[in-house]
Amino acid sequence: MKIVQYPHPTLRYKSKPINRIDRELKNMVREMFDLMYAAKGIGLAANQVDLPLQLFVINLSGSPEEGEELVFINPVVSSPKGSDEAEEGCLSIVGVNAQVSRPESVHISAYDLSGREINQTVNGLLAKAIQHEADHLEGVLFIDRISESSKRQIEGELEEFEIDFNNQRSTGEILDDAAIFKRLAEIETKYC
Ligand code: ZN
Repeated sequence: MKIVQYPHPTLRYKSKPINRIDRELKNMVREMFDLMYAAKGIGLAANQVDLPLQLFVINLSGSPEEGEELVFINPVVSSPKGSDEAEEGCLSIVGVNAQVSRPESVHISAYDLSGREINQTVNGLLAKAIQHEADHLEGVLFIDRISESSKRQIEGELEEFEIDFNNQRSTGEILDDAAIFKRLAEIETKYC
């Protein structure tokens, strides 16, 4: 498992609800936390590790020794309130940051890894992280939510990501779209 980078097609894939939690899925979640910590992030969505599942993980401390490890399965974000702007980055667009405006508070309902229901109104950094990760599951990236002037500022950096991606495609390091979607379909058959 590894974190895929923009513009990998799985980042634009709409994730499917999970209806089965097994040992293998639990191991994948563990691996997602470990990759997230290694990359110095505070959240990671399944699409970012090339999985088509409605699942993301968060630890606001960014450290395995601190904070709380949160797992959200089949999340539904609702009741947005207020608005707040803050700088965001993404482990799939490493090194690129921009100001993003989002609702200050939202309600999240989901399931954790034990199948227990989560029903919570959140604000602050947790609300931002949840909205950023829930976006991923819909195939939406934070760069889709930034101003035109911010977009122009990061244009050059995104082009470099595209060049890297095309190079990795030409060496076969990244599969072609058909092979990627076939693999995603196989995983869906097992978990969705
Ligand atoms: Zn992200």
